[in-house]
Amino acid sequence: MKILVYGQIRDNLLEENLLGILNKLSEVFQGSEIYAAILGSQINNEWTGELGKHGVKKVYTVEAPELENYLSRPYVKSMLEIIEKAEPTLVMAAGTVFGEDLIPRLAVHHGVSCAQRVVNITLEGEDILFHTPVRDDQAMKITKIEGVIKFATSRTGAFFENENPSGSAPEIEKVEISFDADDMVVKHVEVRKAERTVNLKDAKLIVAGGRGVGGKDNFQILKDLAELLGGEIGATRACTDVHWIEETYEIGQTGQSVSPDIYIAAGISGAPQHLSGVKAKTFIAINTDEGAPILKYADYGIIGDLLVILPLLKKKLE
Ligand SMILES: Cc1cc2nc3c(=O)[nH]c(=O)nc-3n(C[C@H](O)[C@H](O)[C@H](O)COP(=O)(O)OP(=O)(O)OC[C@H]3O[C@@H](n4cnc5c(N)ncnc54)[C@H](O)[C@@H]3O)c2cc1C
Repeated sequence: MKILVYGQIRDNLLEENLLGILNKLSEVFQGSEIYAAILGSQINNEWTGELGKHGVKKVYTVEAPELENYLSRPYVKSMLEIIEKAEPTLVMAAGTVFGEDLIPRLAVHHGVSCAQRVVNITLEGEDILFHTPVRDDQAMKITKIEGVIKFATSRTGAFFENENPSGSAPEIEKVEISFDADDMVVKHVEVRKAERTVNLKDAKLIVAGGRGVGGKDNFQILKDLAELLGGEIGATRACTDVHWIEETYEIGQTGQSVSPDIYIAAGISGAPQHLSGVKAKTFIAINTDEGAPILKYADYGIIGDLLVILPLLKKKLE
């Protein structure tokens, strides 16, 4: 079996979810060949090398000024050409804004549907099964897709990368594509970065607070601990709704998805809409209520008042 992954580049680096997807694909499709496609105005050897290290056998590259920024038409045209060459059974990308624009368009061109935001992939005989959480993460939809080529995107943060990759340099195939006026009907104008950005996606440690924090000012206690540990703070919707903290800090279904190494959930009950945005290697919950649902989810639970425990923890760490 051959699998093709769209190698999105973000801020001059491989998109952070890509390596997790490669790890998952290598695990599920043992013995299959994994290919990647990188499109852009300048392709960096470091990207292709990194993909090779994580199991990619061959990287198709398309280099053209028209591909400097993501635009649906030239990207779809390039990917369709690469799909024809690679003849994959599965085409996948991280479920970023661009991945979720590109992959369903490719599926439509092939007359099939696309599995979006999958959190697991399994095999049943010859069939590929895509697992997608539904109904606020309280149920799992498992789908098979018709057609020779299957198309899917992953939920961001769903898969962890292999920390000891052992792959070698991949074969590179440069693909030449010419673009005409029809491909470029939509023009890229400018990128305007939001003035205030909270980078929770890349955070290795997050101290998140819920309604149990008790008020706006108490968030300073979380900030102090996060700062000491080189992490970020986050919050539940219960806190952003009442403006204890800005919406950009919200984690969960309507907030950001995060995948830190350590997640400290302080005064958070563990609603599925919050937990659906968290995939942490180590999950620590602090709660006054022994019966709080979050304690079933956490690796470590501390029963007590966060306003006492967090300052103690900080003092101990100092
Ligand atoms: C469509 C939809 C989308 C949603 N999206 C999101 C989302 O993206 N993110 C999100 O977070 N929520 C989301 N929600 C809201 C979600 O359902 C919950 O209401 C919310 O997550 C609860 O927040 P909480 O855990 O802070 O508050 P609560 O459920 O009120 O829990 C507070 C916890 O703090 C504990 N506590 C109280 N005092 C202390 C103390 N001093 N020390 C320690 N523990 C204490 C309590 O025992 C309790 O367990 C969404 C809801 C809907 C309907």
